[in-house]
Amino acid sequence: MSRPILEVKDLRVHYYVEAGAVKAVDGVSFSLDEGTKLGLVGESGSGKSTMALALMRMVQPPARIVGGKILLDGYDLATANEEEMRRIRLSQISMIPQGAMNALHPLLRVERQIMDGIVDHESGLSKAKLKERVYELLESVELNRRVSRMYPHQLSGGMKQRVAAAASIALHPKLVIADEPTSALDVVIQRQVMETISRLQSEMNLSIILIGHDMGLMAQFVDRLAVMYAGKLMELGDIRAMFAEPLHPYTLMLIRSLPRLENKGEFSDIPGITPSLLNPPSGCVFHTRCPYATGSVGERCRTVVPDFCEIRPGRWIACHLDGEIPS
Ligand code: ATP
Ligand code: SF4
Repeated sequence: MSRPILEVKDLRVHYYVEAGAVKAVDGVSFSLDEGTKLGLVGESGSGKSTMALALMRMVQPPARIVGGKILLDGYDLATANEEEMRRIRLSQISMIPQGAMNALHPLLRVERQIMDGIVDHESGLSKAKLKERVYELLESVELNRRVSRMYPHQLSGGMKQRVAAAASIALHPKLVIADEPTSALDVVIQRQVMETISRLQSEMNLSIILIGHDMGLMAQFVDRLAVMYAGKLMELGDIRAMFAEPLHPYTLMLIRSLPRLENKGEFSDIPGITPSLLNPPSGCVFHTRCPYATGSVGERCRTVVPDFCEIRPGRWIACHLDGEIPS
């Protein structure tokens, strides 16, 4: 029986800037079952990284979580105190950050970078035990144990990414958030690193949220897909069902633009520009670019925010067309 490991309910994160509140995450709700992989895609600036940081409770000023729940195995991270979060991060929820290749400390050997995370949670382990753990972790991401004595500048991009992956699973977390873990790597290395992450996921029964732009990569690695636009989820569902029949106009347009994306999708084929999150459009945030916001439905699109509803089992959309996109 599947059970939700993560339930996000009406999450809101704002950046408070001089001109007002940037609504980077604006009422997002979804759940993730134990041992499954969810992809989160969206154009640049749609709020993906802000959401990842919020799930880790790592948003920094001027950003703030202003509402909602983040239930990890039933426990609300949105209201946990800092001391609790220090215990929970890495041991229950961890992150391979965007640009993880540059996130390693340049002056510390690999073993020290991995050990520091373990020691923060499990004091009292002998040096020998710690070293053994580091070797096991490196081997689990297909790196030789000799890598433990190296500095980041001695590693290739793919190796650094593997070290970041090893560090993220050091304490067997329930959930790993991977924010564009391979975007800076060339396509071949990217696939190899993703295959390693995928193998770890199934061996450890991890739950994963994979953030990215690349619909092709998502199609290969995740079970379900969430499509984000202007701080909101537009569609969520089984990725195969979604590719076979997208139910939201935005997803449809993303998928139609796929063959021209050459696996590095920047979604550039969708006409129009993403809206300002300081003053998002009224009604449906996508209405300024949606070709279906015409006729009788158009007025509602411009004035009424569509609810995010489950219109078929496991298929969620926020659209007044209720999945009936005119052909
Ligand atoms: P990308 O794919 O480029 O990483 P993203 O989907 O992860 O983009 P975020 O980086 O989460 O998007 O940004 C969401 C919104 O928050 C954007 O409109 C961005 O301009 C805004 N934002 C991000 N950081 C700040 C900040 N420090 N101050 C003000 N606004 C910010
Ligand atoms: Fe387009 Fe209207 Fe649906 Fe928004 S609600 S996606 S504007 S048809």
